[in-house]
Amino acid sequence: MSGRLTIIGLGPGADELMAPEARAAIDAATDLVGYATYLARILPHPGQTVHGSDNGAELDRARHALRLASAGHNVAVLSSGDAGVFAMASAVFEAIEHGEASWRALDVRVIPGISAMFAAAARIGAPLGHDFCAISLSDNLKPWALVLRRLRAAAEAGFVIALYNAASRARPWQLGAALDLLREILPPTVPVVFATAISRPDETIRIIDLAAATPDLADMRTLVLVGSAETRRIARDAAPCWLYTPRSAAS
Ligand code: SAH
Repeated sequence: MSGRLTIIGLGPGADELMAPEARAAIDAATDLVGYATYLARILPHPGQTVHGSDNGAELDRARHALRLASAGHNVAVLSSGDAGVFAMASAVFEAIEHGEASWRALDVRVIPGISAMFAAAARIGAPLGHDFCAISLSDNLKPWALVLRRLRAAAEAGFVIALYNAASRARPWQLGAALDLLREILPPTVPVVFATAISRPDETIRIIDLAAATPDLADMRTLVLVGSAETRRIARDAAPCWLYTPRSAAS
């Protein structure tokens, strides 16, 4: 019996923001593998085996999923947002590259999801309308000096910057240090968006000047979007402003 492994992005939270193809792949799976918090968003049907695990240990989880698929199961590996953005898809391919030769013959598919940066951007206008990049502030898997180097390069190059993993209880100081570095490079009026729990019941969005941005506005469910010098604000009476980055940029 030949198994299948489907790596699925669930989107930022709301069911409507999950691709129909993802929903169909989850329904067809015999086994669901993922971080327990993400699995809680899925109602497994009888007959589906749920393999929850703690956050972290992504490679172990990937190898477990590959072994199940090798044994003939139809396995769905679940991530939030898009599975290829700071998530499980890379872990699965890393496990394949360094793992058993037979894993290369498996039917492996990746189904895209709406990443937090797209969900957050859509709420406030079009801040990602020109060149942008995404940086994870987590130094669990890379040295902090590398994070700072990339942040500096991105800000100096004029990218709008989406910061993932901006803060958590285990990483309380990194966002403050990142904002301090960005203040050395960018104008103080650059807008910074703190988008928390987008598309979930407790969604909150704050837009603040870089000069006044403080790390306490973020937790582990926050996507921080740092505008470029070109990002524009459209003020509105009695409604939050819109942000957009124009389609054209000066030299
Ligand atoms: N694969 C995911 C990212 C996983 S990293 C994606 O494509 O979105 C986890 C980080 O994503 C969180 O720390 C936070 O920065 C961001 N994130 C995930 N879901 C979010 C949501 N609903 N609202 C805001 N940020 C979110």
